[in-house]
Amino acid sequence: SKKIKLGIVGYGNLGKGAIEAIKQTPDMELVAVFTRRDPKNLNINEPNVKTLQIQEASDYKNEIDVMILCGGSATDLPEQTPYFASMFNTVDSYDTHAKIPEFYESVNEAATKNNTTAIISVGWDPGLFSINRVLADAILPNGENYTFWGKGLSQGHSDAVRRVEGVKNGVQYTIPSESAVDKVRSGENPELTTADKHSRVCYIVAEEGADKAKIEKEIKTMPNYFADYDTEVHFITEEELKRDHSKAPHGGFVIRGGNTGAGNKQIYEFSLKLDSNPEFTASVLVAYARAAYRLNQEKQYGAKSVFDVAPGHISPRTREELRRDYL
Ligand code: NDP
Repeated sequence: SKKIKLGIVGYGNLGKGAIEAIKQTPDMELVAVFTRRDPKNLNINEPNVKTLQIQEASDYKNEIDVMILCGGSATDLPEQTPYFASMFNTVDSYDTHAKIPEFYESVNEAATKNNTTAIISVGWDPGLFSINRVLADAILPNGENYTFWGKGLSQGHSDAVRRVEGVKNGVQYTIPSESAVDKVRSGENPELTTADKHSRVCYIVAEEGADKAKIEKEIKTMPNYFADYDTEVHFITEEELKRDHSKAPHGGFVIRGGNTGAGNKQIYEFSLKLDSNPEFTASVLVAYARAAYRLNQEKQYGAKSVFDVAPGHISPRTREELRRDYL
């Protein structure tokens, strides 16, 4: 049967990850990558893929079934998702949790008006973690949800340490606190703040002659970013930074401890350990592009979230195959 035809909007980390993810799917193919920059300068070496300016997208309405939106959450997606949802089925990874309700409304308006299907906030958090928070809560009403992030490279905190005087380069990892994870796994349902649940580890390349003790103190006492956390600072060389810290790992856990019957403890746990956050997130987006196409074929128009999409719609396998091999 015919392959599902995809476009990518935005050539950043996710855009690159999406190109790779599409190559691993049997039933979908990439038609074009759209960018706000001059496509010639991006050096995208994919022989069968067009690289085009974002304004040209409207000419491809009949050639692309689903647009994978890979823009940033802060300023790109609030503009790009409603715009593209007025012409195409879309998936995006909008992750500004507090603003999801208003984002949903604006995308839903565009998609409903134009009979498209737009699946918003797809990825792992929001995304797969969200699904697991809902499942755990529905199954164990008498309990408590916990989300831990990491070990993960945090862009915002890495930027913050790089702004400290005497720091030449550096990265920051967020790490789930083992004692907090153990407490939750034991079913105690403890009260924990974000700072109780996570610690922070920094790898710093200092400028020549810089006062390392001063740098360490400044980082550990930085308000909001580090002051409330258990923070470690390690000094390394530029070579070590390049060798050991140039990937973007991430992951985490969703855990719910609940009670059933006469106080039997039930622990629900879902975890991810990712070498590359953007490649994994893009892989989730690509799988959900299949669902966006199918939902649209079924005339399920408007904005959807991961809560509205059944697993069978995400899978390339037939329902018969799924019942036989995966039930
Ligand atoms: P990037 O910053 O790499 O890319 C965002 C956009 O910026 C691109 O679409 C691209 O647009 C532009 N851009 C990229 N590189 C450059 C450059 N060198 N110079 C100028 N412009 C550039 O973001 P990511 O791909 O890492 O992440 C996108 C969003 O995904 C994040 O904002 C985050 O919110 C979300 N996310 C969600 C997750 C989830 O689990 N739900 C997990 C991970 C991320 P253009 O080509 O048009 O210039």
